Amino acid sequence: MLPSVHFSGCTPVWVWDTSFRVDGVPVKLLREGEAATFLGAQVGFNIVPRMASLAEITDIGLKIARSKLAPWQRIDALKTFFYPSTVHMQRMGTFSKSDWATIDRILRPELKKTFYLPQEASGEFLYGSAKRGGCGIRLLAEDSDIAAVDSGFKLLTSPEDRLASDATAHAKKTTGMRLRKNADVAELDQYLSGEEDGVFRESRGYGGVWSRARNASERLGVPRVVDGGHTAITHDGTILRRKQRREVMRTIRESLRLKRSETLTAKPDQGRAMECVAADSASTHFIESGDFTRFADWRFIHRARLNSVPLNGPSSWMAGDRRCRRCGYITESLSHVVDHCMRCAALYLAWHNAIVAMTKEASRDAVPGDRRKPVDWVTEAAPGPGHQEGKCGVHCRRRNGPVRQQDGRLRRCGRVQKREVRAAEGGAC
Ligand SMILES: [Zn+2]
Repeated sequence: MLPSVHFSGCTPVWVWDTSFRVDGVPVKLLREGEAATFLGAQVGFNIVPRMASLAEITDIGLKIARSKLAPWQRIDALKTFFYPSTVHMQRMGTFSKSDWATIDRILRPELKKTFYLPQEASGEFLYGSAKRGGCGIRLLAEDSDIAAVDSGFKLLTSPEDRLASDATAHAKKTTGMRLRKNADVAELDQYLSGEEDGVFRESRGYGGVWSRARNASERLGVPRVVDGGHTAITHDGTILRRKQRREVMRTIRESLRLKRSETLTAKPDQGRAMECVAADSASTHFIESGDFTRFADWRFIHRARLNSVPLNGPSSWMAGDRRCRRCGYITESLSHVVDHCMRCAALYLAWHNAIVAMTKEASRDAVPGDRRKPVDWVTEAAPGPGHQEGKCGVHCRRRNGPVRQQDGRLRRCGRVQKREVRAAEGGAC
């Protein structure tokens, strides 16, 4: 049962020592400074901020990030259990945005360690969209703003008429307190859009769900618009109406992630390889599942994608020897190490053949045509009777951008006949 609290609004403001009874049973009385939790939010008078809870949240996140699980399992656990568990507190406004930002700052170095990235690596890689090669990790500070906007919108567009009308009346009352007059619907929309000009120029602070929604809307750029006689919210060109009330959080979050991914790919150094990675979401399939990924691969791939592998060549600001440590080539760049260094030619061939074998195995049942027939790949032998022919071309060469990648694909098509001849003779395709 919820405890009772009785306080006087007259100066001096204080809590009265009044006991209440329900059916003759005394209700626990909250004294000044005491608090209780109701639906996840603290209630009471002059409540002490529950910094212990904030520390607990941080501790849980750090325990997962520092656990002995495989790195992709740690990321999966954080995404599946840790971040979703904070949404309710964000909706209730239990902690301020700066508190959530503190947890983000504490967790960020651990996340970079999980991806084996140097601490100076771009944060956009962690928090970018998984559709564009990013890791798709949530930013708690950003999520708290999105949750505030989402909660306000859901209250005002509730399918329960009484709840929606009560919420609208309460929001109008809060707007009226700011304006010092009765507010209409247009002024309510302006207030919740974060309008600072005109009648809203004078600042008066009134905390609460609507104030949080207003401040969050202003920071995120989510104004309210009138669409077909109904109020909707818009973000980055997308209009979210009443029927999309359940998609607000996901839409805004993904839009912000995509912007971060665009920022990353626009970076001349760290975004160079990410431009290719972002071309297809399949490039990041292994981040959550760890499929086809060894620990050595994991330690290398994220650094390579951000061009952060400790090599002699990429650091143009570094003085000293920039030659390849294996073959003595003039510049030890990433493309040289993973593709061009002739001391590793045998490894490149083995890598290529392993990918060909894996691709053939994975696509054995996915070849268009008559699926009842098993596939005989032209790299192995001529198709047997009752079998169909499949062609497998794998392009492993790493160049400096998607245009070169496309060039490679075209060259591969032009050489397919030669490869088939070589393959028939026992070579790789
Ligand atoms: Zn070399």
